[in-house]
Amino acid sequence: MAAGLLAPEQASAAAQAAQALPIALPPSVRALIDVGDPDDPIARQFIPSAQELSTAPEELSDPIGDAALSPVKGIVHRYPDRVLLKPLLVCPVYCRFCFRRGQVGPDGGMLTPAELDAALAYIAARPDIWEVVLTGGDPLMLSPARLSGLMMRLSAIPHVAVVRLHSRLPIATPERVTQNMVESLRLGGATHLVLHCNHPRELTDAVTAACRRLAEAGLVLLAQTVLLKGVNADVETLETLLRRLVANRIQPYYLHHPDLVRGTAHFRPTLAEGQALVRALRGRLSGLCQPTYVLDIPGGHGKVPVGPSWYDHSAQAVQDGQAVWHPYPD
Ligand SMILES: *Cc1c(COP(=O)(O)O)cnc(C)c1O
Ligand code: SF4
Repeated sequence: MAAGLLAPEQASAAAQAAQALPIALPPSVRALIDVGDPDDPIARQFIPSAQELSTAPEELSDPIGDAALSPVKGIVHRYPDRVLLKPLLVCPVYCRFCFRRGQVGPDGGMLTPAELDAALAYIAARPDIWEVVLTGGDPLMLSPARLSGLMMRLSAIPHVAVVRLHSRLPIATPERVTQNMVESLRLGGATHLVLHCNHPRELTDAVTAACRRLAEAGLVLLAQTVLLKGVNADVETLETLLRRLVANRIQPYYLHHPDLVRGTAHFRPTLAEGQALVRALRGRLSGLCQPTYVLDIPGGHGKVPVGPSWYDHSAQAVQDGQAVWHPYPD
């Protein structure tokens, strides 16, 4: 599938890497790749490289600790007010830095009807669950019939006030955002859709048109971005991306520091580099364009903001977006 996109000497290492995580390149994503650019930021996200074959000592097989927090198949319950529900583990594209590498893949991981019943029963039995986060895999890979069935069953649970979906599908295959899909999503009530988007070039006209259909149906659109070396870890690329998201009515939500996934060291900036970028963005972009820079603590301890420390208690000073400190007594 990646034929023509790889130099022959890369091909065998890439084939090996593809055994750990499959390759999927829908035509609209493939069209974004500049085959003449060996450092193309789109190719880097989806085409395997030999660098994936080396594991850094700090990398983990379950970097976010999903396994320890799964009471029922398909559910991850870490916080009292919200659960993840993973109805399937298929994605429209496979990101080489995927935090669920090793779980996702085209084989499915689809919950059986009995498993889905058990997962929904778990949610229905716990009135503290205010929000259900559909993830996977990509929940929009469900057939329209399955998706609308699931949205209806969730909206029938009185204490579930919010359904949130995390998806890469509108970016990878915008043509699949049909009226049918939009109607299914409306069934969830206060439905929030978090789009996984890492590079401004991913926001093509077809993609922004798909997002407009979703926004006009009343969905709240948010974006999450993974901070990736060689893709977006520079202030100009992030600025263009964040402005383009907001101009298309997509609110930046999280900027993720990459998880300690095996074979992804070539993607990870240091936290200090990430903090410097966040500080620079604060100095030049509208507040509407500011995502929260977060880290998912290994072991299942949750996500926390890891942006720069703006206030220094010992110095009794606060810094501005140009990294200049000003006295401010507390
Ligand atoms: C990321 C995550 C959530 C959602 O966290 P928010 O901070 O609300 O976006 C919920 N449960 C689990 C297990 C998660 O990993
Ligand atoms: S879309 Fe998300 S779950 Fe799917 S491969 Fe990419 S990072 Fe992993």
